[in-house]
Parts: sequence; C-alpha cells; structure tokens
Amino acid sequence: MSIKEIDDEYVANTYKRFNVVFVGGQGATLLDENGKKYIDFASGIATNSLGVGESSWKQAVIGQINKIQHTSNLYYNEPCGKLAKLLCDKTGLKKVFFANSGAEANECAIKTARKYSFDKYGENRYEIITLKNSFHGRTIATLSATGQDVFHQYFNPFVDGFKFAEANNFESVLSLISEKTCEIMLELIQGEGGVNVLNRDFVDKIYNICNKKDILLIIDEVQTGNGRCGSLYAYEQYNILPDIVTTAKGLGGGLPIGACMIGEKAKNTLNYGSHGSTFGANPVVCAGATAVLNSLTTEFLNQVKIKGEKIKRVLLKCKQVKSVSGLGLMLGIECDNAKKKVEQLLEKGLIVLTAKNKIRLLPPLNISESELNAGLKILEEILN
Ligand SMILES: *Cc1c(COP(=O)(O)O)cnc(C)c1O
Repeated sequence: MSIKEIDDEYVANTYKRFNVVFVGGQGATLLDENGKKYIDFASGIATNSLGVGESSWKQAVIGQINKIQHTSNLYYNEPCGKLAKLLCDKTGLKKVFFANSGAEANECAIKTARKYSFDKYGENRYEIITLKNSFHGRTIATLSATGQDVFHQYFNPFVDGFKFAEANNFESVLSLISEKTCEIMLELIQGEGGVNVLNRDFVDKIYNICNKKDILLIIDEVQTGNGRCGSLYAYEQYNILPDIVTTAKGLGGGLPIGACMIGEKAKNTLNYGSHGSTFGANPVVCAGATAVLNSLTTEFLNQVKIKGEKIKRVLLKCKQVKSVSGLGLMLGIECDNAKKKVEQLLEKGLIVLTAKNKIRLLPPLNISESELNAGLKILEEILN
C-alpha cells in the first residue's frame, strides 16, 4: 500500500489532504517523496517559524533529548522555568501556563477569566464576548468561543455563555456587555477567518472599557504571535496591555506547545489543582521554544516586516489581486478562485494556504531572499 492508501484507510477522515508526501527539506525548501522541491509559504500552518532544520533550534531540541525527554509537572525542569521567564521578561506578563496546543492555551485563558471573576464577584459573571469570524480552537469550549456558525453543529450542547460581536464595530461589542461579562477575547488579525486586521481605534475602545469594568482582555495570538506579524506579539502594534495573551503555533518551531501568559490582575487566579496538563511544559519542546524566542531579535523582526512589505508590493502589481491584508509575514490575498489557485501553485512548487476565500501566506520568518524571490515568481505566474 502507498502512504496515501494507508492513510486513507486508517487515519480518521478529518482532513482533506493534498496528494503530496513531504519527506524532508531545509529552510523554506521542502522535498516530497519523488524528490520534487517546493518553496514553503505556509510553514506547516505557521508552526515551523524558523523553517526546516534551523541549527539553533535543532541543537536545543536534540541537546535536551540527549538529557531527558520528559519529567511530568510533579517536578521542576530547567527549560520550563527558563522559557517562562523569557516570555515574561519580553512581554511584561507575569505567569505562564504551558499546554500543548492553541486550543488548550485558550481553554486555560477561559478558565482563568471565569475563575478570576468567580473569586472576585461570585457566580453568574461568566459571559465571554468574542468576535464573529473568529477562530479559537477545536475543543468544545473553544468551538463555543469561535464566532462561526459552521462550527456550531453536531456536538450539542456547546458551552454556555459566549456572545459574538461584529469585528471593527464597537457599538456591537458595547451592546453585548452586561454585568455578566467577565472576558473579551480577540484575535488582532483573524487568521482562519480571512486575515482580517482589527482597527486600532476599535481595539483601543475595547481595551478602555475592559479596564473600566474589570473585564479581562484576552488576546489570542496563537497564529499572530512569536514574530509572525513583525513584532514579538501583534498586540505590541496596538496601544494595549492585555490581561492574558495566548499563543502556540510558531512558538515551538514545529513542536507542539501552547502558552497562556497571564498579567498582573489574574496572575494568582490559577492555584494548586485548578488546572494542569500531563505533557505541558515538556522540556524538549520548551528548549526548542527558547531557541525560537532567542532568534527573534529586533533586527530579525525588522526583516520580517521588510519581507512582508516586499511581498505586498509584488502582489499588488498582479492583475488578479484585488487586495492584500495582514501584517508582517501573515498575509491574505483577495482574488477569485483561491482554492483552485492554491492547487495550481502547489503544482508549480509553491506551498500556500487558504483562509475563507483568500490565499493565505505564512512563510518561515527567516526565509532567505532567494527562496522568497522564487516563491514570488510562482505567485506572479498564477496571479497575472
Ligand atoms: C490555530 C489557532 C487556534 C487553535 O490552535 P490548535 O493548536 O490547533 O489547537 C486557536 N486560535 C487561533 C487564532 C488559531 O489560529
């Protein structure tokens, strides 16, 4: 049986896969089982933030594997504490809970916000406002938080207490706030929802009302974080300090990690026994994440911005491109037949993604000039 046949027979049918098997690569160049080369503008959905086989990341991961691969959270492990300190030093947030995915990071944020409110105000202040078109994960609670009807089927009953406001419409948020509201959760750029950037003014107003009413502001940076948008976290490009920031995808450089970073207000809300994860804070994964964060210097992040602007410039000259949205190396291309074009691009050796009816680009943050140019050339062929 071929790899495809085995997969189709034995793996749960939750994914519609492209007919490609990637077996290796280096940087932003991937290799399939037939030896065909591809330029990677997707990074395994923003996870391989430093591309394939980056040396500092690889050394950190292999070095930790050679020491010990897991300890459990009953004991201290060195990479866990060091990574938490690094995240807090770089953001000003105060405590980190480590999980294994974005959904779990958001679960932790939801639990933290509800317990913060319970501890301070008692029962019945549990409502959470998120945005229409958002995406917060695949667990029952994070699906409930996701503001898209397509995700609210089959699995009833969902978790109660979520309300959905219109993005970039503050009146809509305001109309949902009540004495029951404990949290507002936002992606600053809606990733799966179509690479929609939130307005600064809208986010400012939400930040202010959250402060005024002691509603926790949670920024879901699962996709936008870890240098993706040209700053360590996207919220730095807004005038806010979130109460909680969640992240995952790019933090692990391709290994599964989620982090829920909690600020001053709620830093002591989670206490012994209130939350946990068997695999969370895995030392191999934390060592890799530390290498990723250490790569994201100011100069590196500037390069992310410059590369993003170059891609935008080239794309906006293409005849079929109607608009380009996004920040840094998280970009959405508005054009007709995005899904069809993604197949054509793959055929020509360029890996890209979709987001709703757009083509979505999430190249490795350290993509080389020559790989970037090679990818752009293929995009120009298809989009002109
Ligand atoms: C991908 C994503 C998630 C879910 O992350 P998983 O690791 O798949 O659980 C949550 N929020 C946002 C914004 C995402 O992009």
